[in-house]
Amino acid sequence: MTSLREVLNRAEADKVAVGHFNFSDLAAFNAIVAAARDKRLPVMVGLSEGEREFTGVRQAAALVKAVRDEYDYPIFLNADHTHSIANAEAAAKAGFDEIIFDGSALPFEENIAQTKKAIEAIKSINPAILVEAEIGWIGASSAVLDKIPDGVGVLTTPDEARQFVEATLVDVLAPAVGNMHGMLASMVHGNVRKRLNIERIAEIKAAVRIFMTLHGGSGTNDDDFRKAIKSGMTIVHVNTELRLAWRSGVEAGLAAAPNEVAPYKILGAAVAAVKEVVSSRLELFSSR
Ligand SMILES: [Zn+2]
Repeated sequence: MTSLREVLNRAEADKVAVGHFNFSDLAAFNAIVAAARDKRLPVMVGLSEGEREFTGVRQAAALVKAVRDEYDYPIFLNADHTHSIANAEAAAKAGFDEIIFDGSALPFEENIAQTKKAIEAIKSINPAILVEAEIGWIGASSAVLDKIPDGVGVLTTPDEARQFVEATLVDVLAPAVGNMHGMLASMVHGNVRKRLNIERIAEIKAAVRIFMTLHGGSGTNDDDFRKAIKSGMTIVHVNTELRLAWRSGVEAGLAAAPNEVAPYKILGAAVAAVKEVVSSRLELFSSR
C-alpha cells in the first residue's frame, strides 16, 4: 500500500493536487469513493471535529480501511481542523493518515507552541502520520455565508510561514492566500468566484519547501486553482460544494418519491449529486 507521503511526493513532482473531500454520512463517502475510482485517482477524505462526532472516529477509519482492503485503493483519511490534543490523539489511535492541528485562531507564538505539542503527541502514537498546521485566518464555517467573516483577507507572509515551519517542523502547511472557508450566496450560483493570490502561494512555497494545502476551495475560480497547484498547492480541500450538492440531492430524492421510506432509495440522488461535484474537481486538480 502506497503511503500518503509517497502520493503527495508524486503529486508535487507532477505539479498536480490530491483532492480532499469531507463527508459525514455514507452517501457522501460512497460518492467520493466512486468518483475517485472512476478517475483512477488517489483521494483524501476528511472529517472535521463536528463531522467525526456524528460518524464516530473509529467508524470513519473503518470505512476507509474497508475500501483500501477491498480494492487496494489509495484513499487516505484526514482529521480535519482538530482543535484539541485529545482529539488529535483519538484520531491517531484510530489510524488516520493525516491530522490537521488547527491553532490558527491563537496568537502566532501560541499557535507554534500548541502545534509543537500536538506533533509530539501524534508522532509518539504513530510517526508515519502527517501533521498539518494552519496559519492565518480564513474563517471556520463550511456553510453559505451572508458576508465575508471578520479578519478574512489578510494573507500569510513568506517570513511568518518560514518562521512557523522552522519552529514546528510540521509536515504540511495551510496558509491564507485569498482562500476562505464556506461560500457567499453569490458564489453558490457561480456569478462570483473566490480569487487566490498566486504570487504569494509561490513565495510561501519557496520559503517553506514542504507540502501545502489549499483550504476552502469551494467556489474558487478554475484558472486560479490550476495556477495555485502549479505554484505549490499539493492538497486542495472542498467541502461546502459537496454539502450543497448533498442537500439538493436529498431534496430531489424526497420530491421524486413522496411516499418512499427506504433511505437507500431516497439517498441515491444525493450520491449522484455529490459524485458529480467530486468528479469535476478531481479532473481539474489532476490536469497537467
Ligand atoms: Zn479547512
